[in-house]
Amino acid sequence: MSDQRTAIVTGAARGIGAGVAKRLSRDGFAVAIFDLEEAAGKPVVEEIEKAGGRALAVGVDVGDEQGVTQAVDRVVEELGAPTVLVNNAGITRDNLLFKMTTQDWDAVMTVHLRGAFLMTRATQKYMVDAGWGRIVNLSSTSALGNRGQANYAAAKAGMQGLTKTLALELGKFGVTANAIAPGFIETEMTVATAERMGMSFEDFKAMGVADIPVGRVGQPEDIAATVSFFAREESGFVSGQVVYVAGGPRA
Ligand code: NAP
Repeated sequence: MSDQRTAIVTGAARGIGAGVAKRLSRDGFAVAIFDLEEAAGKPVVEEIEKAGGRALAVGVDVGDEQGVTQAVDRVVEELGAPTVLVNNAGITRDNLLFKMTTQDWDAVMTVHLRGAFLMTRATQKYMVDAGWGRIVNLSSTSALGNRGQANYAAAKAGMQGLTKTLALELGKFGVTANAIAPGFIETEMTVATAERMGMSFEDFKAMGVADIPVGRVGQPEDIAATVSFFAREESGFVSGQVVYVAGGPRA
């Protein structure tokens, strides 16, 4: 048990993050479920434990510097030093530019970029000490530009620049950094987008599928499989990459 590696997945109470956490547990990692509310992460922990894995739910806002430090300290004490980090926590505050408030801009930058920065800075020393680490950042096809998402597109493009810089700085310590840019994934985030657009989720999905070469929308497991690849021992020569997981070149 003592040589088991520990992974932290942010925003892991539901959606893509929950799928990633369960997959990393099946891959043999102890997994910390970071989300705003500790209680929200508990069902994922229970599912992992029921399947024989080790997990811990931690309530933390990834944009809160002190909170992040305390949360990572708790993981070190209760699960072990984290050497895998998946920066997945995310929010949308969509609006056309002329209607986008400064708060909408700041909220999105805080969770995605400040959150990934704080989390990575707080965990990198454990990876450097171990001479091994895996960082996976969630970008999006929206990084290529998306109407109504000036804030989100900028943040998701920023995640790609952050990833490449982490790869450059941390490579010599055995740490890789890669980004995944999902297309349409069926989660509460896309359900909320459909609601905002005044469409049923079924109609919204059908509209999405029409533009996706493989002819279906994605599931959290599709992203989890890609995280699993990056986290693997034999993926140590793959770093600074952005993989679009979108059922085609882009969704
Ligand atoms: P989701 O279902 O909305 O889940 C996001 C999770 O992050 C929620 O549990 C949320 O907690 C948590 N979270 C939000 N702000 C946080 C904060 N400050 N600190 C800690 N946790 C926080 O979203 P998803 O669809 O799984 O998306 C996961 C990631 O993939 C995001 O980065 C998203 O931008 C990206 N992505 C998603 C899609 C897609 O189609 N779904 C496509 C491209 C990229 P609460 O429930 O308490 O709000």
